[in-house]
This record gives sequence, C-alpha cells and structure tokens, in this order.
Amino acid sequence: MTPSSTQEAPCPLPSPDSSKSFWLSEPILLGHRTTEELPAEADVVVVGTGITGASALRYLAESGMKLRIVALDAREVCSGATGRNGGHLQPLPYARSPSIGAFEIEGSNELASYIHDNSVPCEYRALDAVRSFWTQESVAQILPRVHQLKKEDPKVGAKIEVVTDDAGLAALGLQKGCAGALVNKAAATLWPYKAVTHMVQSLVESKSINLQTNTPVDRISRNGGKWSVQTRRGSIMATNVILATNAYTSHLLHDFSPLIVPARGHVTALIPPQQEQSPPETLSHSYGLIAHSPNAGKDVDEDDYLIQRPYAPGPNRKMHLIFGGAHYDSKLTNIGPDAADDSVVDPDAVAYLRKSILKAIKVPGDTQGFDELETEYSWSGIQGYSRDNRPWVGEVPGEKGLFVAAGYSGHGLPNGPLCAKAVVKMILENKTGQEVVKEGASPEEYLLTEERIKNAMRMPSVVGDDYQGELLNNVD
Ligand SMILES: Cc1cc2nc3c(=O)[nH]c(=O)nc-3n(C[C@H](O)[C@H](O)[C@H](O)COP(=O)(O)OP(=O)(O)OC[C@H]3O[C@@H](n4cnc5c(N)ncnc54)[C@H](O)[C@@H]3O)c2cc1C
Repeated sequence: MTPSSTQEAPCPLPSPDSSKSFWLSEPILLGHRTTEELPAEADVVVVGTGITGASALRYLAESGMKLRIVALDAREVCSGATGRNGGHLQPLPYARSPSIGAFEIEGSNELASYIHDNSVPCEYRALDAVRSFWTQESVAQILPRVHQLKKEDPKVGAKIEVVTDDAGLAALGLQKGCAGALVNKAAATLWPYKAVTHMVQSLVESKSINLQTNTPVDRISRNGGKWSVQTRRGSIMATNVILATNAYTSHLLHDFSPLIVPARGHVTALIPPQQEQSPPETLSHSYGLIAHSPNAGKDVDEDDYLIQRPYAPGPNRKMHLIFGGAHYDSKLTNIGPDAADDSVVDPDAVAYLRKSILKAIKVPGDTQGFDELETEYSWSGIQGYSRDNRPWVGEVPGEKGLFVAAGYSGHGLPNGPLCAKAVVKMILENKTGQEVVKEGASPEEYLLTEERIKNAMRMPSVVGDDYQGELLNNVD
C-alpha cells in the first residue's frame, strides 16, 4: 500500500468526544467561559490551551502590558495532546543539534521553575531517564551522535551517560536482551494537565485573560489590518493570532497539511503489581524503549515510553505505570487526517502495552505468574508530526500578525514553553524571527520561513516515512 494524497488533506477539528485519559481524571475549569459572549475585539487571540497556548498566555500576561487577551479552545482546557501524553519531560540533546538540545534543556528548566516557584501540585519528579535500545543496530546508530555531542558541547554532553555492559543494564532495571542505554540526567516526570491548568486558572483568576472553552475556531481570515477569528458563537477581530493548535494546525492553515501531520498515539495507565512494603517501591527511572518490538515486523522499531507516578498518601495513590507507544503494533491507520480522532482506542495497541512492559522492565512488586498488567485507563492522543522533524515557530510568511508554534513530533513538553515565549517576543517586541534567534530565544532551525517550507516539501512526506517504518527513527 502506498500513501495517497488524501492523507495530507487538512486536519479536522478536535473530535467532540475523546477517550478517557488518566490525566484528565481530576478536571478543572470545565465549560469555563469568562464572559457569556465572545469579546468583539482582542489584541491577541491564542487558539489552543495545551502547554504551548497556556505558556503563550502566561508570557503575554506577564509582560505587564495592558493587553486584551482571549484564549479559545475547541474542547475543555488542555484536553489535546498535553492532557493525553506520557508525562515525560525529557530533553534529547543528541537527537537533533547541540543548539536544539540546549534549548530543550532550558525549556524543561523553565517549566520546572514555574512549577517550583508556584508550588504547583503536579507530581513533578526530577530523575534520570533511561533511553534503552534493544538491537545492536539501534545502539550503533545512536552512539556516534552521543560522542559527537560530547565533543561539540561537553557541558550538555556530560548529562548523558552510555551504558552497554550487562550488569550496568540490569542495574538500570532493564530485562535481558537490551543492547545498550543512555542515561539522561536532565529529565523529569509530571502530571502535565495539572501544570498547564494551574497556569490557565491563575490567569483567569487574575482577570488577565478571557477564556472561552468549547469554542472551535472554524476559520481565520484577513479583514482590513486585522484577523477575523470565526467561530459558531461569533467572530473576534484580533491584531495578532497565535495558533497553538499543534496537530490540528492545518485545519486553519491548509498549506500546513503536508508540514504538520496528525499522528495518533496510545497510552495506558497500568496498575502496578502488589507490594508488601510500605511505602512501596517505585521505578527510580523513566524509560524510553527503542526497537523493543516483540511483535512488529523486522524493519520497523517501536518507540515506547514509560514513567511511574510517584507514591503519595491520599486519594489517587495508585502509582500507575504510564506506558505508551505501540505505534507499529496497532492495526489502525494512525497517521494522517483520518487518524486525528482521539475517541478511538485500538485494543491491539493496548494488549501490546499490557504485555510488553514486563518483557522490557523489572517492575517493582511481585510479578511472578503475570504475563501482563491490568489497565485502569487506556486512551489515545493526537501528535503533530513535522515533515522536517522540527517544530514550526514564527509569523506565517506574508501574513502579518498570524503566528504558529506547533509541530513537535511527539516531543512537545521540553519545547512548547519556549517556542511560545519566542512567538510572544516577536509580537510584543515587534521582532523578526532572525532577531529572536540572535537573542538566543529560539533555535534557527525552528523558524518558520518560506525557504524552510520549500526545503521541507522536498523531503519525504510524513505519511511516506511511516510506510517506510522511518517515522519514529527520525524523531529519535
Ligand atoms: C500519546 C501521546 C504521548 C506523548 N508523550 C509525550 C511525552 O511523554 N513527552 C513529551 O514531551 N511529549 C509527548 N507527547 C507530545 C506532547 O504531548 C505534545 O507535543 C504537546 O502536548 C503539544 O502541546 P500543544 O499545546 O502544542 O498542543 P495540544 O496539547 O494538542 O493543544 C492544542 C489545543 O488546541 C486546541 N485546538 C486545536 N484546533 C483548534 C481550533 N480550530 N479551535 C479551537 N481550539 C483548537 C485543541 O483542542 C487543544 O486543546 C505526546 C503526545 C501524545 C499524543
């Protein structure tokens, strides 16, 4: 089967129903509308209230300028990818370039500072992340990148430790068969929904923003020198619009259909095996599992990910193992606009996740006699895969006042906050993308320019990459 052009049609709106993510199990701001009617005008409209939109709102409000800021979301606050992901805040400094690696570390620190400074109860836990590789080939691919990073940027490189001996791998909690691992000392886990909704709620309470949930934006068009942001509840005339719409960006910007492509991912909240000891033991690391694919074909490698919620007394102390991935073990089409529906959960993907965790990781507790774990929640979420594997950040060429920060290819937590900050800087300080790059506020590789679009269009399509089994390899 070959990819067809309809698979790069514009993304639909977020589906009205969605599968039940564990992270959304303690919701706030449900149905919130700061005013009954939409305001007629705004200085800035932010579309989307995930990590990117919430961060943009925060930086706009923190500027101290008297701005009329409106936040619109098609569904509830933070009900997109940020409310459905793996909860893993992990910069990957060896994956792309040293400048992107440094940016991701700074972005992770920025989010950590917000959580710390505001005492946000979101289960934030700094820890070492283990990225494990299950074939010699995948180890051979990654090691030169790590060695290069250590040479080019020794400070960042020092955060990555290479482990390839059996005893070292076993000490990291990896089962037999693992070929090598990278230990990343700049990682953390968290309940992302709680961090993001804390930001949005504070801004609502301080009357810094007008929040309108359940208000899909159908269209954005030029009207005089402004943007008309059109919804079924009316239109807002805005000087600036920020699209923090990640996977769904092409619904409003059709030209982005081949640049940011929706990709459905599956996640489970698994119940850990019982333990006698109190307090119970939890995993001391988080994990990425590369090329661990007991079921998938030889030419495709899964990219699964695991964190464990920390133990805490009180309600909700189940210490779920949040385990996601199963891209190639799912029998559904999970790439393209037909896969942008997060109400769908593939039972094959869930079955794979329930079993494969025990084949890869020594999970605390008594696992004797178990060949799978029970799920309390299983859900899907929609990622936005970028054609050239980098987020798109900046003003849309030729469209003054219309900005995008999106396309994180499944890796938005360390990137979203500072991508939003870069766009806010462009708006409030009237700076070009290049000026923002010179100030160190964004990697040059992220800038949205005509030239980059042209170059990206010469690359294989995201859907084509998926058919080749290359998609997840590119992201790593
Ligand atoms: C299954 C899964 C697992 C992942 N795991 C991780 C992980 O462990 N670590 C990591 O770093 N990243 C992970 N990611 C990626 C990460 O979650 C995303 O990159 C990040 O959350 C994107 O944030 P965002 O705010 O840009 O977009 P989103 O959180 O998707 O928010 C976009 C918002 O825009 C709204 N919207 C869209 N279109 C419209 C419209 N037309 N009108 C009004 N509102 C609109 C949506 O309703 C949504 O609320 C994962 C993603 C998924 C799906």
